[in-house]
Amino acid sequence: MSTLAGSAASPANGFAPFAEAIRAQIGENIHRCWQCVKCTSGCPLAEQFDLAPNQVMRALQLNDASVLESRAIWLCASCHTCATRCPRDIDVTSVMDALRIEARRRGVRPAIPEIHAFNSIFMRLAGFFGRVPEALLMGVFNLARGKLFRDAGLGWQLLRRGRLKLVPAFVHPGRSPTPVANGANKVGYFPGCASEGSAFEYDRTARAAALVATMCPMCHMNLDARQPRLALESDIPVLHATQLMVLAFGAGERAALLGTAIIDPRPVLKTKRLLD
Ligand code: SF4
Ligand code: SF4
Repeated sequence: MSTLAGSAASPANGFAPFAEAIRAQIGENIHRCWQCVKCTSGCPLAEQFDLAPNQVMRALQLNDASVLESRAIWLCASCHTCATRCPRDIDVTSVMDALRIEARRRGVRPAIPEIHAFNSIFMRLAGFFGRVPEALLMGVFNLARGKLFRDAGLGWQLLRRGRLKLVPAFVHPGRSPTPVANGANKVGYFPGCASEGSAFEYDRTARAAALVATMCPMCHMNLDARQPRLALESDIPVLHATQLMVLAFGAGERAALLGTAIIDPRPVLKTKRLLD
């Protein structure tokens, strides 16, 4: 087991063991991990990681500070697949977040400095404008890397087509999700992200919907699997848009994989006469 030079996790150095540091930050007990590897099996980036998600968990259990030097904690895309799959209900995604914070706190040089720089610029711009102006983000990021004109050709193409704004705009305050009117008679479409931060938005916008459709497979899986935690008044089936298309083309419920959902959509679809 390697340890980070000069910062072995001990109270004498002012650093609590990882288990305590993670518990203090996000309330997660990493010792509950039993190394079943389900997180790693589902992680879309595991092949690019130097430490797979389950290895990160094991390193933490062993109090191995070298995990802070890993590329994995910077490459993690926060997609929540690992957290959704974990049979021990461990929020591995938040553990990855906590490790990035811990690495910064201890002054560990990020294994991928570009991602660290991108994150910092992104968060500062989001804090200032309330949203992230893409053109400014890439301009500042390229400047920080000494490659100001990188992707300039692509940027120009996007600008010409109105898909990129040169002048940043501030977020208008006071915008909040509008509840679905007469939702029980509609098929809902969920346009937001199903990650932790917007679960509440989902709760508010879709509370009255009979069914929610997503375009993103991750949102589909997360909303279906995590919905019981939202404590809605009643379960709302979640379908991926392609499942609705399969039904519309008449290929039937087996082809649409309706039986794989945690919240069974078939009763609602039958009520709406979208299924025989
Ligand atoms: S899925 Fe959960 S219990 Fe299994 S290895 Fe990953 S973190 Fe540990
Ligand atoms: S949140 Fe990170 S570690 Fe978890 S599955 Fe997604 S990319 Fe992998």
